[in-house]
Amino acid sequence: MSTPFDPQQAMADARHEFGEHGGVNMSIEASTTFTVMTPDMMPEIFEGLHGPDDGGCYLYGRHFNPTVYVLGRMVAAMECAEAGYCAASGLAAIAAVIIQRCGGGGTVVSSNTLYGGTWALLSEYLPKNCNVQTSFVDIQDLDAVEDAMKNGAKILYTESLSNPTLRAANIPALAEIAHKYDAMLVVDNTFTPMMVSPMQLGADVVVHSATKFLSGASDVIAGVICASQEFINELMDLHLGSLMLLGPTMDPLVAFRLSLRLPHLAARMKEHSYRAMEFARRLQKMDLDVTYPGLESHQDHALFTSQLNQEYGYGGLFTLDMGSEKKAFALLNHLQNEGQFGYMAVSLGYFDTLMSCSGASTSSELSEEALQEAGISPGLVRFSIGLTGGIEQRWKQMEEAISHANSVCC
Ligand SMILES: *Cc1c(COP(=O)(O)O)cnc(C)c1O
Repeated sequence: MSTPFDPQQAMADARHEFGEHGGVNMSIEASTTFTVMTPDMMPEIFEGLHGPDDGGCYLYGRHFNPTVYVLGRMVAAMECAEAGYCAASGLAAIAAVIIQRCGGGGTVVSSNTLYGGTWALLSEYLPKNCNVQTSFVDIQDLDAVEDAMKNGAKILYTESLSNPTLRAANIPALAEIAHKYDAMLVVDNTFTPMMVSPMQLGADVVVHSATKFLSGASDVIAGVICASQEFINELMDLHLGSLMLLGPTMDPLVAFRLSLRLPHLAARMKEHSYRAMEFARRLQKMDLDVTYPGLESHQDHALFTSQLNQEYGYGGLFTLDMGSEKKAFALLNHLQNEGQFGYMAVSLGYFDTLMSCSGASTSSELSEEALQEAGISPGLVRFSIGLTGGIEQRWKQMEEAISHANSVCC
């Protein structure tokens, strides 16, 4: 039997990058332009004959940058992808991929439960500005997915774990459907780095908002695309590449900072998972309406488990449905302002706990109808469980806030 893929090991193997003076960290290449040694080299670089991988020549900072490229390779190794490159944000990475494949008349089939920004991009921005139409489907309904794919879509798009409903995508089955119709399966793996390796399961492209777990400190906005070398080169093409020409470039200083976070991503994911599981179990014992893929009561528990890499757990996110927005607000207010359990803030993957009422925040781009269809009720609170503080200290803060929320409203 072959050893199962371990993203932590793969990334360590790929990370051999010494600094210029033998430093244990890579050097930061902060130049926006690069010299050539002979004049005839310049036109050849423009013709694409001496890229960073053949000849080692760099051209200009909006094209490949050596420091940014190293980060791309680290994330690509983690995702078991042939190549990777970075973008200024997760949304820039997503938009670049979709426009590259579908811009000017292509169609997308996408899960109907998505990060709000991606939803707005697909449902409003791209149809209006790039002639890209999207059919939204329940990604759990494989027949509906296949039906929708029959219109010639070039991309099948999903999140590994949906936001904020935490439904697991059946990546192998979706890959099979996408490939049957000559489409690319694009998976947003922002919620489940290390835990799930979509490309191992058949995906063609993985996108990340590196702003979240990859950073872990809520201090940078960043994105990464992992794909075949051919597709990455296409995105960076001097005439037709959407990363190159729309220009959402990652700053090399940001790439350097993120390169210092990836070596402890595995350890952080395990701790996020451990704590989220602990709290989810305890909340369920109190008969509260908690959704966490690690709980056996979760409707996709078995499906999700079958796709997980070993030892990283079930992730740092769970939701708690308080029944009404009023009660959810009372809980959040107490958790932040009385108990210091965490922050009322959007985003996730931070070392402290972040919590928000999804319907009134990150999913507010969705219409009333779309919210209902996606199963996002007004009292739904999403927690991204942090790894600071003592577990018992945090649990006490949670218990007090729940009892307060129960006492003040219906
Ligand atoms: C945050 C997020 C994005 C967008 O990433 P940015 O870095 O904010 O542009 C995309 N997908 C998911 C699942 C996210 O959580």
